[in-house]
Amino acid sequence: MRYERQIIMDEIGQEGQEKLGKSTVVVIGCGGLGSPVLTYLTLAGIGKLIIIDYDEVSESNLNRQFLHGEGDIGRLKIESAKEQLHALNSETEIIGIKEKLDEDNTSKIIQSANVVVNCVDNIQTRILVGRECIKQGIPLVEAGVQGFYGWIMNVRQETACLECIGFENIKLKPPLPIIGVTAGVIGCLQANECIKILLGLKGTLDGVMLQYDGIDGSFDRIKLQKDFSCKGHSCKNN
Ligand SMILES: [Zn+2]
Repeated sequence: MRYERQIIMDEIGQEGQEKLGKSTVVVIGCGGLGSPVLTYLTLAGIGKLIIIDYDEVSESNLNRQFLHGEGDIGRLKIESAKEQLHALNSETEIIGIKEKLDEDNTSKIIQSANVVVNCVDNIQTRILVGRECIKQGIPLVEAGVQGFYGWIMNVRQETACLECIGFENIKLKPPLPIIGVTAGVIGCLQANECIKILLGLKGTLDGVMLQYDGIDGSFDRIKLQKDFSCKGHSCKNN
């Protein structure tokens, strides 16, 4: 009964719902993007969600990170996220890993994933996760937000990664400005891409960056060129 409205969809059906129920998704970060991503993946009936985050909840998180409340300030984000998500759907297994990703642990942490969803705001982690996903052939849903603006793209072995487009050269000065609705819009799109990949649906944002302008109220699709010599992709060939 819980998934009745999904099962009657041509794109999902009983078979698709069972696929979602057998899937494992690794979500890196349970903050502004992670809150909508984890919420909608849990509601959709993903079998197992592995959340990676070592941070604690602070008051300045609360304008956007709705998995955590005022009473959670000072607690580990994975703890409050697990509680909230379990209350929404006890059928989804939620595992929280309190670790900072580095070159030694990333490979093992993501290896069981059918899809990895990146919900972080630092470039080093993006590059690390991007390279490891390409190496292991795991689809990655990548996104970023700032102010009223956001973007999302999927990274595959066959399509452009962030290093193909020189993203590692961008200099960001923390704290990044952000309003919750922007993280909500982009996080929902990430969850949508993840579900489409798990179901094997066409039309995913592979090799395409979707840019969102919340002031203009517009979306732009930008086709990305894969660079075979980029460090992200060449690590797969080595
Ligand atoms: Zn690349």
